[in-house]
Amino acid sequence: MTAQNSLNQIYLDANATTPVLPKAAAAALTTMETLFGNPSSSHISGLQAKQIMDNAREKAQQVLGSGNGSVIFTSGATEGIQTGIISALYNAKSQMEAGKKHTLLYGATEHKAVPESLKHWNKILEINAEIKSIPVNSDGDLDLDFIANEVPNALMICTMAVNNETGVYQDLSRLDQVIRKHNANVYWMVDCVQALGKTSLSLATTSIDYAPFSGHKLYAPKGIGFVYIRENAPFTPFIAGGGQEGGLRSGTENLPGLAALNVIFDMLLSNDDESFADVEELHKFRAQLAAALKQAFPEVVFNHNFKNSVPTTLNFAIPGFSSKEMMDLFDAANIRVSSGSACSSKVTRSFVLDAMGLPQWQSESAIRMSFGPAMTQAQVDAACEGIIFSAQALGQSCLTLDENPVNPRAELNGLVQFKVGGSCTWLYVDQVSKSAVIIDPLVEITDRLATMLNCQKLTLTAVIDTHGHADHISAREQLVNQITNVQKVDALGWPLECDSQRLNNQHYPMIQIGEKYLVKVATPGHTDDSISLILCSDNQSSGELTTDYVFCGDMILMGSLGRTNFDTSSAEKMYHSIQLLGSIVGNESLICASHDYHNEFLTTIAAEMDRNTLLTQVINNELKVTEFVMQKAALDSNINDEVGTEIMCGAFVDSCSKKQVIDYNSQTLSEAMSQSNDMTLIDIREPHEYALGHSQQFDLNVPLTRLVDFIGAHRDKSEPLVLVCRSGSRSHIAAQALARLGYNNVGHLKGGYALNH
Ligand code: PLP
Repeated sequence: MTAQNSLNQIYLDANATTPVLPKAAAAALTTMETLFGNPSSSHISGLQAKQIMDNAREKAQQVLGSGNGSVIFTSGATEGIQTGIISALYNAKSQMEAGKKHTLLYGATEHKAVPESLKHWNKILEINAEIKSIPVNSDGDLDLDFIANEVPNALMICTMAVNNETGVYQDLSRLDQVIRKHNANVYWMVDCVQALGKTSLSLATTSIDYAPFSGHKLYAPKGIGFVYIRENAPFTPFIAGGGQEGGLRSGTENLPGLAALNVIFDMLLSNDDESFADVEELHKFRAQLAAALKQAFPEVVFNHNFKNSVPTTLNFAIPGFSSKEMMDLFDAANIRVSSGSACSSKVTRSFVLDAMGLPQWQSESAIRMSFGPAMTQAQVDAACEGIIFSAQALGQSCLTLDENPVNPRAELNGLVQFKVGGSCTWLYVDQVSKSAVIIDPLVEITDRLATMLNCQKLTLTAVIDTHGHADHISAREQLVNQITNVQKVDALGWPLECDSQRLNNQHYPMIQIGEKYLVKVATPGHTDDSISLILCSDNQSSGELTTDYVFCGDMILMGSLGRTNFDTSSAEKMYHSIQLLGSIVGNESLICASHDYHNEFLTTIAAEMDRNTLLTQVINNELKVTEFVMQKAALDSNINDEVGTEIMCGAFVDSCSKKQVIDYNSQTLSEAMSQSNDMTLIDIREPHEYALGHSQQFDLNVPLTRLVDFIGAHRDKSEPLVLVCRSGSRSHIAAQALARLGYNNVGHLKGGYALNH
């Protein structure tokens, strides 16, 4: 077990939720086992329960400074938000003036619960007001001029005290002035979820009408929350029924939650309780974490201004690393953090940082570390140590240039596949000759490639594109300065002067990479300049050349053929190119395409023929060229460039249905292992994650970027393989890809390391 592994979990995701503090949990348990009465019962058990509730309310009022306003207990903040919005809108409806353009305003960085609830109740209550988001500046401050202009027409305005992604707080008294100067009657809700325990509140001194709170963000259990309602603010119950909470919120009260809240409120209200660090200490913790991040990742960029943020949230980005990559890294180091909260199909990005106008990369790489007032110095020290370990692991796997690595770096050898969206870049490394070649370089990973070459001390022999890409700009120009022995090259990067190699009784241009040959075959069709690159080696026993990998660009894609409806395309030429390539490399060679839209990694002509009749007919010479041209045109007409942001380079003939694989859990895996002694257990996380800690059983590491290389070396498809990753998602994808290629005994650990200890 590594040193890192022996550290306990470092939880830095308090803005998502917090653990229940032992004292609060104990109080909750007492109400479940002993003081379990129903506060509505009039017997002694009921009276005791009611006292717990009354105490909680009294303390909540003190914590919030609620004056004559009321506090109603809810299931959490989302319910509190509904309560505020329904109350305001139901009342506002009766005051709407005919012919006037009414609006509902909310801050652009609000938690989704707010705009979604506004939209919902605007529709259900048939208010039909225009819903407008209030812009923020690059510091996350609400645009007060916008509010001044828009609030006169607003029925309701929703803002937040502290942002959950950045910790940015709003100046509530300035907001109060602006809102009331321009509209004395508008209903104002302030989401105070992330403010509780981090800033002092004095709600009765403001004109805020509604303020929702949540228990689980401050060490109470999930399922308890409360909402503040200003004295005389209109109120409509969100839940009707038995008349609990004075008829304002029915349903038997969550007594365990209330008992826990009581304990938390005591901690907030007491001056000598040591459970919560004071604000000054929290600032020190933030400074220490920020310093550790700077030391570990000197290029770190913070995504918010510390000056207008509560000290418990740090949101940052590391250039060159996506949120997902950093999450995986930190999770492997046992540090729990969060990425940008909005999940789109392709990349995780943050709408909050987008609203602040931050560069796209910062939004796509955002990582949030957050802690609560119960944070201790020992926990901060452990977190800083974990951050440093994580950075060292990145250096070890050559993703950063660490001049003095703590541990020796593993030597890279063979094929590496990089993916950006649905596009692929291929790096082939010959460790003996310390040379490398890059095929179809994507701009997004130029720095990563350059770092890797430098770190591994590799000489770049060539950077070649398989065709002039329509969907992206090649990074070849940026990478050629890495080539030491510069030669004259053609438009795709192929050296003008080169040897030739005989394949299938024909001579083709060839360059040597260590002991391997990279052979170029013109395969026009997708574009007129399309080429295929065949990596082959001398077969010692037969004296023949054997094909290792075929880089055919956008000709044979997984589940499709490259599109032929560009100006320089020719379906007719593609027909002949497919036949030519098929005759040279055969049906079982590993095809490495320029795209992988469905996480299949690589393919073979045989695997494609199983699902692509058009390809089968071309390979088997069962189709006339003219018929191919017609069918191909019909296929291409299905390509919808409007879908997504990527230009799709092939029309799909198959929906890429996924193969079934065996789902293991720790128990079924142990059973399977006791019955078979030839199982290969593979950890398919990236090397830095693996280095930070892995199960001893999974003693082979094949990251997804190296899956194709593994397939190239392991052609025995009957060997039982079991894959593992962090959550079971990457292992599932990889297992399915292997199964599709005919590996007939592949499984994965469902739920990954997260659910199998
Ligand atoms: N508002 C903010 C700012 C939050 O951070 C959250 C929790 O993610 C919510 C509202 C919703 O709170 P709850 O989980 O109690 O419904």
